[in-house]
Amino acid sequence: AQANIGVVGLAAMGASLSRNLARHGNTVAVYNRHYSRTETLIGEHGDEGKFVPAKTLQEFVGSLTRPRTAIIMVKAGEPTDQMINDLADLMEPGDIIVDAGNAYFKDTIRREKAIRARGLHFVGCGVSGGEEGALLGPSMMPGGTDESWQTLGPILKTIAAQAEGEPCVTHIGSDGAGHFVKMVHNGIEYSDMQVIAESYDLMRRGLGMEPQQIADVFDEWNQGDLNSYLVQITAEVLHHTDAATGKPFIDIVTDQAGMKGTGTWTVQTALDLAVPVTGIGEAVFARGLSSSPELRKEAEQKGLSGPEPQAILSDLAADPDQRKAFIEDVRQALYASKIVAYAQGFNEMQEGADVYGWKLDMGAIARIWRGGCIIRAKFLNRISDAYASGDEFGSLLFDPFFKKAVEDAQDAWRRVVVRATQAGIPIPVFASSLSYYDGLRSKRLPAALIQGQRDLFGAHTYGRVDQPGVFHTLWAGDKSEIKQD
Ligand code: NDP
Repeated sequence: AQANIGVVGLAAMGASLSRNLARHGNTVAVYNRHYSRTETLIGEHGDEGKFVPAKTLQEFVGSLTRPRTAIIMVKAGEPTDQMINDLADLMEPGDIIVDAGNAYFKDTIRREKAIRARGLHFVGCGVSGGEEGALLGPSMMPGGTDESWQTLGPILKTIAAQAEGEPCVTHIGSDGAGHFVKMVHNGIEYSDMQVIAESYDLMRRGLGMEPQQIADVFDEWNQGDLNSYLVQITAEVLHHTDAATGKPFIDIVTDQAGMKGTGTWTVQTALDLAVPVTGIGEAVFARGLSSSPELRKEAEQKGLSGPEPQAILSDLAADPDQRKAFIEDVRQALYASKIVAYAQGFNEMQEGADVYGWKLDMGAIARIWRGGCIIRAKFLNRISDAYASGDEFGSLLFDPFFKKAVEDAQDAWRRVVVRATQAGIPIPVFASSLSYYDGLRSKRLPAALIQGQRDLFGAHTYGRVDQPGVFHTLWAGDKSEIKQD
């Protein structure tokens, strides 16, 4: 035995991760169901470090030093379950099986329990950054036991992205905590992408700007508070010209956003936990609407009427000063909506931690998202600072920095929501985030009316503002009130 770490599954992700491990001084055992992938990896990249290729899983396990540590990077779902079992059959108590695929956190909780019962460690590890991240430095979110982290931590630190000198990996918590946090990360990624898309739409359809001009705006935004990977690549996409037609690339792409399901999981889980993640929810629904071609076609055929965006915003578009001011308003609306979506995502993590018994260090999570992952952004330093202050708060929106940021941005944000609504440009995340903010700060919500309705039709009872207890009004009778025990 000579390899300190092994990787099973050598498709795009596994191959990149193996190379990253080997390049950083690890001796990496590699195995793939079909040996051809292993041969390709060794043939093309074998000189990048020390690899121990294995033809069989037995050979693979035999080449690992104790405690044997194997990272699984195979197709999510059934193949992952199969591979976990096959490995567990060959391993011994104390060994560590890591699933670095995109698993649903409840599957990870189930798998961890089953593997722990066999005396082995099971670590569900969220990995963000795609294929390039896996090769050059991902952000990693491992769950599992403290004991497994002692072996795995130093290895993962060698390959993680670095942000301001710190590796973008931390032990998130027990069993499914890592995959849970990775799931919420992806949900936040959906809302980040959607608010950027809404900003683009306002400039494109609202102000009639060309993609190149909008790309320049995003390049400029990337110099300030919004500095982030997603804003940077947005500019890159908008600068790009389609070689075949000479048209802006953005104009030849089908406007139906795909998804692989992690955003949906984030929202489903939030619904189960009763945490409002309106930003993420609207972002998932916006992709759903975009990907309903028949419905959209029928809407077009039926001529669903409404304002023409440019006619409404033409006054702004025509005047350079007003146009500039509106673009700045959009920037601030983007920033404020983004803060709300992150606040909601962090609330989901807090609630998940309470329900599933994890102790999540929110500041550390924000820090490991600063590098390697898709939502990497300067902004995350601010979130990390907020949690590092030691103050207890129920929402990031109550942290002095973010409170002020949203307060400063809100006039612009409100103008954008009004203008977009008048112009008929959909802004689901801008608008719902603003409603969430206003809901949160409302002293009295119309929920009182809902309680009245519920009591009337279903005797669901209500509380009173002036005394404790549970009450019901005899709506069908003399409308007297009964206090229940
Ligand atoms: P795929 O999801 O395409 O899976 C292909 C790999 O799985 C191949 O190595 C294949 O082996 C193996 N495999 C499939 N079925 C079985 C089986 N029944 N038994 C054994 N091996 C099997 O690979 P990716 O590299 O794209 O992704 C790997 C994991 O990483 C997935 O869970 C995916 O969701 C996740 N992922 C994560 C990303 C991220 O940014 N974190 C990005 C992309 C993926 P063979 O060659 O023999 O067919």
